[in-house]
Amino acid sequence: QKSERLDKILSMCGFGTRKDVKKLIKQGAVTVNGNTVNDAGEKVYPLIDNIRIFGEDLDYKSHIYIMMNKPAGVVSSTREEEDTTIIDLLEGEYSHRNLFPVGRLDRDTEGLILLTDDGQLAHRLLSPKNKVEKIYYVEVRGKLNEDDVAAFAGGIPLEDFTALPAKLEILEAGKFSRVLVKIHEGKFHQVKRMMKARGKEVVYLKRLSIGPLKLDENLEPGEWRELTDSEIEGLQ
Ligand code: URA
Repeated sequence: QKSERLDKILSMCGFGTRKDVKKLIKQGAVTVNGNTVNDAGEKVYPLIDNIRIFGEDLDYKSHIYIMMNKPAGVVSSTREEEDTTIIDLLEGEYSHRNLFPVGRLDRDTEGLILLTDDGQLAHRLLSPKNKVEKIYYVEVRGKLNEDDVAAFAGGIPLEDFTALPAKLEILEAGKFSRVLVKIHEGKFHQVKRMMKARGKEVVYLKRLSIGPLKLDENLEPGEWRELTDSEIEGLQ
């Protein structure tokens, strides 16, 4: 494990800016392995050293992982002047961490968004090389049939690329159809464009999973929670 500056670690844990935590350190509020530390730049091993602040063990997490059930009408970027963003839904929690979404969902799309400050994990999940499976629940206007299933499986040609083979599972077909779509890539508007190529308009779209990570059904739109240890392990 890598050593880090003590002030950086405390700041990551929510004890204020670097300047704020420097003050705390100067005041003698922080001990490392039982010794009061006065140097904010002291190198520590946050997972190994016993760091205490005001006599309490520091709750250090090297990374934060949050699953959110994104509601429609919220944008999945981190900064936006006009619109509500997924970061706004955290209501200031984790504001000391540099969280970003792993991939995007359209404004009108609901469902699983993973927020983290683990750049390596994000990179692995997003890299086209890794072909991580994403499952979407989709409602379209019109009747989907076995020809559509075959077209999805064969790879649907779009304007600028041909989609990788995808699985279309029909749950109900009628005036409106309810289906599951499993894709291994994540281009802009991908599901909507694949449906459009089949002459169908998406009226509802919700992401259910990213690789092994499934959206917790107990999360209402707009709700979120940290991943469990086994969910985090599943993503490694
Ligand atoms: N495909 C889309 O068209 N939109 C999304 O938000 C996600 C996948």
